Amino acid sequence: MSNAPWFETGRLAEQVVRISEPNVHRFFRANLYHVTGRDADLVIDFGMGLRSLREYLDLPPGKPVLAIATHVHVDHVGSFHEFEHRLGHSAEQEAFSQMQDADTLADYFRKQPECVADLPVKDWDPTNFKIAAAPLSEVLVEGSFIDIGNACYHVLHLPGHSPGSVGLFDEQSGTLFCGDAIYDGALVDDLPGCDVSQYVETMERLRKIDISVAFGGHGPPMSRERMHHIAETYLRANN
Ligand SMILES: [Zn+2]
Ligand SMILES: [Zn+2]
Repeated sequence: MSNAPWFETGRLAEQVVRISEPNVHRFFRANLYHVTGRDADLVIDFGMGLRSLREYLDLPPGKPVLAIATHVHVDHVGSFHEFEHRLGHSAEQEAFSQMQDADTLADYFRKQPECVADLPVKDWDPTNFKIAAAPLSEVLVEGSFIDIGNACYHVLHLPGHSPGSVGLFDEQSGTLFCGDAIYDGALVDDLPGCDVSQYVETMERLRKIDISVAFGGHGPPMSRERMHHIAETYLRANN
């Protein structure tokens, strides 16, 4: 175990910081986002929970923080339980309150050879790895919105990768947070809970959305052209 910081941070936009866990196996190394709003901050996705994300983040004392999980997979919800105000989609409400392997797919991480490149804590053992239950305090559905004062994010239900995958779209700036529904990398539609026909509908929708930038659950930010290209490539392969 080294003393190097567990998380890595990079600013992607004036109000958007991306956090990742460089020591986590690349299959499970997700993008987590801290969005600074005027009235409230958003934390979008929560990594593996191997160290405290809450303690790591520089959250202004007293300012409301809305914690939003794009979906219930293991690489996105590890530190979800550390936040008080938790939001996620209704289709995964039960899953968030239980955090069973069948929904989080944590067993894939447990079985992953070299799942971490460095130990998060002394004597850490992957066989004991568990995701803590994190019941939702607010249930999101298509059309819900999250107003942080200087931006208003509409919830898009984007199933296919998982039943309750959501995107958060601020029409005014064209900013989309899209979790694993779409990202610049190899998309996953063959895990338990995936549904290719729903994924096709989600991609039909994404290829038409007029964004300025999309921040995915993995990979680099996407331009409108790049995101549309990824959606169209998926549709060509699955229609
Ligand atoms: Zn996922
Ligand atoms: Zn993921």
